[in-house]
Amino acid sequence: MTPDVVGLVVLGVLGLLIGSFLNVCIYRLPRDLSVVSPGSRCPACERPLRWYHNIPVVSWLALGRRCGYCRAPIHWRYPVVEALNAALYVLHGVTFDWDALLLVRLAFASALVVLFFTDLDCRILPNEITVGGTVAGLVVATMVPPGIGSSVLGVLLGGGVLWGTGALYERVRGVEGMGMGDVKMLAMVGAVLGWPLMLLTLVLSSIVGGLFGVVLLLLHADARSTALPFGSFLAPAALAASVVGQPVLDWYLGFYR
Ligand SMILES: [Zn+2]
Repeated sequence: MTPDVVGLVVLGVLGLLIGSFLNVCIYRLPRDLSVVSPGSRCPACERPLRWYHNIPVVSWLALGRRCGYCRAPIHWRYPVVEALNAALYVLHGVTFDWDALLLVRLAFASALVVLFFTDLDCRILPNEITVGGTVAGLVVATMVPPGIGSSVLGVLLGGGVLWGTGALYERVRGVEGMGMGDVKMLAMVGAVLGWPLMLLTLVLSSIVGGLFGVVLLLLHADARSTALPFGSFLAPAALAASVVGQPVLDWYLGFYR
């Protein structure tokens, strides 16, 4: 089914509204705060926001990038997360067929947005997303692609490969190289995308992370001891694998037929 313009607009608005909630998750989950109560408030003066303070992107611009009460600057991340999530929803709308798999991949994209920013900001990948996403991924895989077999294998391989790499690194270098958050995040990717796309995600994220590491090394020699937020590399890689990974895999495996 081809999406019409109205459908895409609805998807974009939904993306903005959910993006607003993702901001709440990004701020509160690493701090072990509830994401449902209390309602949204200014991080500086902690006064509850009124509805017109909380219109995605629009309020941030209309209020001059400041809190409506105390005029404290509001971080650019808030409108960026909302706009990014909306853009991702529209992108999914034109890429996927409009069926149950689209809903699964929308939720997956939003989960990745949260993980990208919590890892970047706090070096935390909340269990609510990674473990919750793994369980949810396994459940929906009984009904939509990649199917439960590929999903289970994705969890075992994804979690296992990273856990093994981390354990080896720790033995050789004596420092923790891979957090359990990364292990659980790749397990989640495996649960939702299945094992082939999980492996593609791992390859993509290693390339991006490796290039980033080289740049760091060139900038200052101390980079080897700088812990990179691997989840922040995994997130865009998993997103790419989710949206365009299957054609890439088909093309690549075509050489071996
Ligand atoms: Zn305020």
